[in-house]
Amino acid sequence: FIEVANIYKSYGSIAVLKGISMTIQAGDVACIIGPSGSGKSTLLRCLNGLVSVDRGTIRVDDFSVELLQSEKELVPLRHKVSMVFQQYNLFPHKTVLQNIMMAPIQVLGHNKQDVHERAVKLLAKVQLSGKENAYPGELSGGQQQRVAIARALAMQPEIILFDEVTAALDPEMVQEVLNVIRDLASEGMTCVLVTHEMRFAQQVADQVFFTDGGVMVEHGAPDRFFNNPSDPRLKSFLAKVL
Ligand code: ATP
Ligand code: MG
Repeated sequence: FIEVANIYKSYGSIAVLKGISMTIQAGDVACIIGPSGSGKSTLLRCLNGLVSVDRGTIRVDDFSVELLQSEKELVPLRHKVSMVFQQYNLFPHKTVLQNIMMAPIQVLGHNKQDVHERAVKLLAKVQLSGKENAYPGELSGGQQQRVAIARALAMQPEIILFDEVTAALDPEMVQEVLNVIRDLASEGMTCVLVTHEMRFAQQVADQVFFTDGGVMVEHGAPDRFFNNPSDPRLKSFLAKVL
């Protein structure tokens, strides 16, 4: 359960988020769409405390995210909310398995043997068994992104945030990554995606949110949202991307 209430964020004189509110239920898939520069990544980063808000409140279950200050205070939130980025951010000089195992051992202090066992299972889950000892540079973009998803899952989160995770991929690799996300969603993982994959949003999302200029312009179930948008800004956006 995520509840964002009237959050504001500025960088210097640039107001990026101007009173955003949204609610996401546990187990739901929420897709956030909107033009470039509309504040989607900033919003996502606020949800796991990577970016602090200037005003407003963010509740993730029993956490008041806006009150968490130090890295230490953020650890339990990072356990609950994992994030996957467009540029994978894998460590190039560590193997696939080392990449997946690092945070659970170093951040959560989990037992190495347990984490290893979990990591091997997660690699199977993202269809990459056999790549345990490969280095990221030896993998395709789609494979690297699936490693990044396995790494996020290794934190045993309840919520995963995906920031345009297929945007840098060749078209034939997009689907293999979306399939992994679709599987997670069907297992009940709460997923929040910033995405340009409108078909995925239409088919998989429970709620779709449209941001423009730092405000939440419109949101709704995908059927209504895509077939009967009401705000003219959403209409013209959809006319361009659909
Ligand atoms: P895109 O679709 O291109 O990824 P976005 O909707 O994710 O865009 P954000 O990345 O949230 O948009 O950026 C919104 C605005 O905030 C942009 O004008 C950007 O330049 C600015 N911005 C984002 N992060 C920072 C930062 N760390 N410092 C200064 N300005 C920033
Ligand atoms: Mg972005």
